[in-house]
Amino acid sequence: MTELHRLVLLATLLLALPLLVAAQIGRPAAPPRGPAVVLDGRELAVPVTITPGGPLFALRPLVDSLGGQLGGDDTGESYNLKIEATEVVTGIGNAIITVGEEIVSLSQPPVRGEGGPQVPLDFLRKTWGAVSGYSFDWRPEESRLIISRRESREIKVTLDVVHLQGMTTVVLQFPETPRYRINQLPGVVEVQVLADRLAPPARKKVEDSLVQDVTFAPQQIRIQLVPDAEAESYLLDNPFRLVFDVHRKSAAPVPVGPSAAAADLRSSTRTIVVDPGHGGTETGAIGPGGVAEKELTLVLARDLEARLTQRLPVRVVLTRTDDSKLPLDSRTAIANQNKADLFISLHLNSSLGSGAHGAETYFLSSQASDTHAESAAATENVSGAAAPAPDSGQETQDLQMILWDLAQSHHLAESQRFAGLVQAELNQALELKDRGVKQAPFRVLMGAAMPAVLVELGFISNPDEEAKLQNPAYRADLVEALVRAVGRYLEAPQVDRRSTPPLPPPQGAVRSNPGSPTPP
Ligand SMILES: [Zn+2]
Repeated sequence: MTELHRLVLLATLLLALPLLVAAQIGRPAAPPRGPAVVLDGRELAVPVTITPGGPLFALRPLVDSLGGQLGGDDTGESYNLKIEATEVVTGIGNAIITVGEEIVSLSQPPVRGEGGPQVPLDFLRKTWGAVSGYSFDWRPEESRLIISRRESREIKVTLDVVHLQGMTTVVLQFPETPRYRINQLPGVVEVQVLADRLAPPARKKVEDSLVQDVTFAPQQIRIQLVPDAEAESYLLDNPFRLVFDVHRKSAAPVPVGPSAAAADLRSSTRTIVVDPGHGGTETGAIGPGGVAEKELTLVLARDLEARLTQRLPVRVVLTRTDDSKLPLDSRTAIANQNKADLFISLHLNSSLGSGAHGAETYFLSSQASDTHAESAAATENVSGAAAPAPDSGQETQDLQMILWDLAQSHHLAESQRFAGLVQAELNQALELKDRGVKQAPFRVLMGAAMPAVLVELGFISNPDEEAKLQNPAYRADLVEALVRAVGRYLEAPQVDRRSTPPLPPPQGAVRSNPGSPTPP
């Protein structure tokens, strides 16, 4: 190119420039373009398919931009998406996905398309939206998806503080699951909210013997405990609740001497609370020979205490040591105050016919596993001043369900496991007729914040069993079976209660011998 040519070209460009600029200005604002996905003002290369049911977005490029790991199974039909700690499982053609533990239905199923699997808008909201706090704004008139890091949500929180049988339960309830972290400090539990802001409940004074105060800041909740209290936390779903059980620090006796061995022993010492049923004017069942249930349960409880402490590294607390009347609620209160690892309530059965015999082990359920279990619970529930009248109505039932939900529900799997061991040992030791593990709404088990069972050690209404129960050798066999069951229970690794889903209703009752006939 010569010098002249260059000058001509430059002049032409200079002349044409205003025209070009004018043309640019005069052009309509948005030329017809395909759909777009925009994150923080930057367009992402995400293929989008517009369908009558709404837009579908290619998943892989979104994973690259929003974070997460995407894996597929061998068939290529199912995908596993991990966002932070949450697993999302989704399948081509299936409008149901799982997000963590939750099952979520989508407006339309994911399909295979340009760029691999494509997912609808609500998929994005229920995964990255819920987990990482992104917001997804689809503007149909522009065919654009605007993704932004969501403004912090304002989440309402409600507070309940219930003092229940020696233990205070603090419940923080949220309409949606917040992102949070729990910090346990000496005397204080802090709930730190991560991305969201809290709308605290109306200020109310907490008056409680274990919790001094609960205070709210936009991103923090502080539960202030009294000096010798400590808290354990767990979660409940639907609605989402953070629950804190506040106890006095364990009253376990401190062994003499500061040796490491002693400290080890102390930390491995478990507390078993044994509850001799009835007492005082509450005699319980009376046998045909005149023996009262309350007398036998106390004798059996004392024997059990002696054998347990001899054989196992346990501390045993009896709910009563003499012939005194004790409300049902106080019995669980003693167990909660002592931070018991196990609660065993001892009883003797009665039935109208004199032929019934055998032992039965129960754990708690809101409903009885059969009519016999129901009547056994009804019989035991009338004793104790704090038992509700049968006609006390819906309110009491609701309250009972709350107690049930809070205290015993996350120990049910362990209660069931222990009940199975007790029943198996009793059957084997005594060649007793197997009456199986049963579920029933025993009031004495409600509110127990540890695995808890009620054992009916035989039928005092049966003259043969009444006589046998007065024989120390026979009682020793019963006690020995219970000690073995406790030993086996403590040996085995515990079910992680926080990951234990609630048991199904009592149709799922476990019977170690499904064939055993129904007693008269
Ligand atoms: Zn009883």
